[in-house]
Amino acid sequence: MTERQNRQIVLRRRPVGEPRENDFELITTTIADPGEGEMLLKTLWLSLDPYMRGRMNDAKSYAPPVKLGGLMVGGTVSQVLASRIPEYQAGDIVSGNHGWQELAIGRPGDDRLAKVDPRLAPISTAIGVLGMPGFTAYFGLLRVGQPKVGETVVVSAAAGAVGSAVGQIAKIEGCRAVGVAGGRAKCQHVVEELGFDACIDYKAGSLEADLRAACPNGIDVYFENVGGPVLDAVVPLLNPGSRVPICGFISAYNARSRSEVRSPFDVLGAMESPPFHRFFLVGEWIEEYPAAIATLVGWIREGKLVYRESVAEGLENAPRAFIGLLRGENLGKQLVKIADPD
Ligand code: NDP
Repeated sequence: MTERQNRQIVLRRRPVGEPRENDFELITTTIADPGEGEMLLKTLWLSLDPYMRGRMNDAKSYAPPVKLGGLMVGGTVSQVLASRIPEYQAGDIVSGNHGWQELAIGRPGDDRLAKVDPRLAPISTAIGVLGMPGFTAYFGLLRVGQPKVGETVVVSAAAGAVGSAVGQIAKIEGCRAVGVAGGRAKCQHVVEELGFDACIDYKAGSLEADLRAACPNGIDVYFENVGGPVLDAVVPLLNPGSRVPICGFISAYNARSRSEVRSPFDVLGAMESPPFHRFFLVGEWIEEYPAAIATLVGWIREGKLVYRESVAEGLENAPRAFIGLLRGENLGKQLVKIADPD
């Protein structure tokens, strides 16, 4: 029996407002050989996502909070080091939800466990454009937003993992794509590299006027990622019959109390004639993920879907990179490279 050392990042204390590095703790534990029906996984890539901020609070949500002292949750791409499950062999690459740690024991029923085909694209995309954020953009826009040729689609957090794909899919569907992002460099990237028709820098001080100028025919679909002042600027431009898929509202994730938060439901619900709007969870379409991967891979190969990754190196740097993600320091998908494959 071999015992290996395993480094993990656990939640040391619940943040109030913006998380700090010492809300997290790097600990070393041991992990035993896999038993019957188990496999030993080496984490290669860790995904950092805004939803993790909610899991750090002791509040009811669609998923339970991380316990104090508990392993931080997170999507992963891993290599199978040893397996006692017939369907998995040493050397296989899998995606899953094995958290902020260097090694893990995997079992067939694990949340989001799937084999990754390394011939499709770089394996890190299994937690990016060909994984949860890509599916969120694809299903959220197409199924909830229902864009039609010639319509104007606006998406916030447009330079991020989800938003960058939403605007490009809107273009593929024949729409005018307008992004909203923080800073000139991000907006330049969104227009020049991702091919959106326009991108508004919400930090430049003229959000309402700039958005109005970029949407001369109003807004038919607003893909909501941020809430707050961006949503306030969108509301007067929404056309009759418009749709608002509510994906998230990151501007509120560091709120110190719930009473501080004006959610998109409050804002849209207060309108005289509210647009169609609903919150969705990407997991609603889990059975359709394989078909979505095939479509997304096709678009990547045709050069219609471009993706960017921001990569932090090493598990110990995950907390800093996560704080950076919430501050907007990432371009595209924020990843942590944990290790090279054996
Ligand atoms: P991103 O890669 O977009 O990173 C987050 C971005 O949010 C930052 O880069 C920053 O960009 C922006 N941001 C941070 N604070 C603010 C603020 N106060 N106002 C405006 N923008 C802000 O993350 P994801 O693509 O992973 O996630 C985007 C959204 O999608 C989130 O709301 C997330 O919770 C949601 N989501 C929902 C899912 C679902 O199933 N419903 C699944 C996955 C994601 P900038 O520099 O432009 O400010």
